[in-house]
Amino acid sequence: MTDLTRLSASALADLLTAGEVSSVEATRAHLDRIESVDADVHAFLHVAAENAIRTAAEIDGRRAAGDPLGALAGVPVAIKDVLATHDMPSTSGSRILEGWIPPYDATVVRKLREADLVPLGKTNMDEFAMGSSTEHSAYGPTRNPWDLERIPGGSGGGSAAAVSAFEAPFALGSDTGGSIRQPAAVTGSVGVKPTYGGVSRYGAIALASSLDQVGPVSRTVLDAGLLHDVIAGHDPFDSTSLTDTWPSMADAARAGLRDDALRGVRVGVVRELNGEGFQAGVKQRFDEALALLQGAGAEIVEVAAPSFEYAVAAYYLILPAEASSNLARFDSVRFGLRVNPEEGPVTVERVMAATRDAGFGTEVKRRIILGTYALSAGYYDAYYGSAQKVRTLIQRDFSAAFEKVDVLVSPSAPTTAFRFGEKLADPMAMYLNDITTIPANLAGVPGMGLPIGLAPEDGLPVGMQLMAPARADARLYTIGAALERLLEQQWGGPLLSQAPDLSATEMFASEEGAV
Ligand code: GLN
Repeated sequence: MTDLTRLSASALADLLTAGEVSSVEATRAHLDRIESVDADVHAFLHVAAENAIRTAAEIDGRRAAGDPLGALAGVPVAIKDVLATHDMPSTSGSRILEGWIPPYDATVVRKLREADLVPLGKTNMDEFAMGSSTEHSAYGPTRNPWDLERIPGGSGGGSAAAVSAFEAPFALGSDTGGSIRQPAAVTGSVGVKPTYGGVSRYGAIALASSLDQVGPVSRTVLDAGLLHDVIAGHDPFDSTSLTDTWPSMADAARAGLRDDALRGVRVGVVRELNGEGFQAGVKQRFDEALALLQGAGAEIVEVAAPSFEYAVAAYYLILPAEASSNLARFDSVRFGLRVNPEEGPVTVERVMAATRDAGFGTEVKRRIILGTYALSAGYYDAYYGSAQKVRTLIQRDFSAAFEKVDVLVSPSAPTTAFRFGEKLADPMAMYLNDITTIPANLAGVPGMGLPIGLAPEDGLPVGMQLMAPARADARLYTIGAALERLLEQQWGGPLLSQAPDLSATEMFASEEGAV
């Protein structure tokens, strides 16, 4: 029998609809896979095995009764722990929220349930989504399925690892400066940051509200589109939510399979996002992918975006400023942890200080200090005000570029997955990892990361990022799916089928046992 965990969400949905597989079987297969590999990978902070089987059985029952069901009904999904779930803990990777079960579902989670998807559990992340390696999770890091000694990216390393280790067909992530696209790059998966306002942020534990977006992580462009369609749309509970009616991203991905999908598409290579500091194998695969696009009729041009040089600097003022304000709600009174001071009087301020000292990790404290400093009287204009001006310049660079080209491209990340500890002691080195992804967040435009091969020097996945004008998310899906098709023709199948089979040792052991 086919291993159900190896199927794409779309293939699995077809089997479910045809009645060839039940949701309980599909869900059980993924829970078994989690059981066999997650002790090594640690993609999940919480696995909701019983609830998942119960939900799956309910969906099977409704299917048997002939009830109308969503297109993805019965397909399992993993959820980043930044999202509020009324029936699972939601910690955002922090001790301060350990064990907290929200009284409500994030809008995107509600939509997953309404579409009859089956939540498997919550995935690991850097604390409050601050990081590029998942090493800042208060619950220990996630490991990269391609090499367990290396990082799976961050902050959404858990979702990307769950998908690339075949523990879930797809997952939700959140992207404030690259946390969907960079983990996708280093794990060989697909990840999309939608246009700002395209997907509700209600119930997504806030990092930087003007940058945060929820989006899909998957193994194929079509699967990302299917999940994107489920979560997109206006939400009156999110004041920055767009009122647009969105075209189907899945249909846009299917349009990419046409032979002429790339003909005449103008692709702009961002000069500032492809130079010094980029790993040779990353550049090589990137250039090869450009040649493929060109061979299929796309026009490749170089585009300058001079302000992108300042994106990381502006981001690390805007993000800490907004984060320090957002994290003020963790005050020992309303949520989670409460710690009394070890000695001295027990006053509100002292309990708050002791709780925040014990509940927040180093990176979170670093950014709160930076943010409160940047916002303090006398410094506000010099730091936060200047960063906002840079943000405007970056938006202008995007607008100017999109007058000349349909999409902008760059490598998704400057290097392949690095080893644990390599960048932990040097925050600047960690921050520079997001040099390619941050501009899209600052401008609110959509970005997609997809795998383009393995770097020759280390055999690890390399990603390409596509960016489109705000509201043109569908364009990413068409071009992304077209490129994916060309690449898979070369590879003879999906890149992830080349990943190490993590359960090989267990399978060997059980075969021996059977003899
Ligand atoms: N790595 C970036 C940061 O540390 C991006 C995080 C994110 O997108 N949530 O801020």
